[in-house]
Amino acid sequence: MLALQFEKELRAVDVPVPTPREGEALIRLRLAGICNTDLEIVRGYSNFRGILGHEFVGEVVEASDGAELIGARVVGEINLACGECSYCRRGWERHCPKRTVLGILGKDGCFAEYFTLPVRNLHRVPEALPDRTAVFTEPLAACVEILEQVSVPPSQPVCVVGDGKLALLLVQVLKLAGAEVYIVGKHPEKLAIAQELGAIPLGAETVPEPRFDFVVEASGSPSGLELALRIIRPRGTLVLKSTYAECPRVDTSQLVVDELCVLGSRCGPFEPALRLLADGLVQTEPLVSAVFPLSRGIEAFREAEKPGILKVLLSPE
Ligand SMILES: [Zn+2]
Ligand SMILES: [Zn+2]
Repeated sequence: MLALQFEKELRAVDVPVPTPREGEALIRLRLAGICNTDLEIVRGYSNFRGILGHEFVGEVVEASDGAELIGARVVGEINLACGECSYCRRGWERHCPKRTVLGILGKDGCFAEYFTLPVRNLHRVPEALPDRTAVFTEPLAACVEILEQVSVPPSQPVCVVGDGKLALLLVQVLKLAGAEVYIVGKHPEKLAIAQELGAIPLGAETVPEPRFDFVVEASGSPSGLELALRIIRPRGTLVLKSTYAECPRVDTSQLVVDELCVLGSRCGPFEPALRLLADGLVQTEPLVSAVFPLSRGIEAFREAEKPGILKVLLSPE
């Protein structure tokens, strides 16, 4: 089968169809999304070696423990937990110290014709939800995670730093929480989309002094973190959504002096994300920049890295 594998560089390779382990399903890819994390891995953010990809819609073709899922369209949670340790027993599977992560840590990902995931990680996609929309479930769940972690102040302006694909989902989730949402970014065409989605755009050079009590950093770049720290008010909450290939420099004295609350935020719950998509409460179509066949995956990555580009999707045909 065809797969996009990262060793020292990204390559399209021909590898055997994987054999599912106990409790796992074999999934045939229907559609996958290239995420910033994938781009960061190719730039050296982690030591991951293997098949990339963690955002997908697929069809279950084999599942010894989940026969009822065979033939079903599914999306899947990307953390594979041990299910036994103290974290797993508390329901914190995403923090299981023994976990592997699809296409990110010790587990081959979904940029392949076939891949495997535990049956318990899978969620059925509602029939009315097209693949093109459902493929956003994983990144949208990561946005919903913020609502699980902290209360978003509906009566105060909040600001998203960054205007990429995750930022444009974040804007919508924060609006659903009732907030007045500002967005700071460098790309006029992306800010225009954010505005259509209900955010108030601010140019990076025009952002005035500290004025936000709640800031979400989702730019993916250390300069976004610097900006977030310039616009947040004392006693504010800063939510960090980016992982950086290059380690940012932060003056931690500001965190102390301004008594800031800094919150890291990663993967989130799939069911609410699927519900938001199925109810049409989050728009994804403006975020799709291109669809490439898997066989042109290298080209798709090059496209996804271009500044004006949002989500690039990969389809198996
Ligand atoms: Zn991702
Ligand atoms: Zn565990």
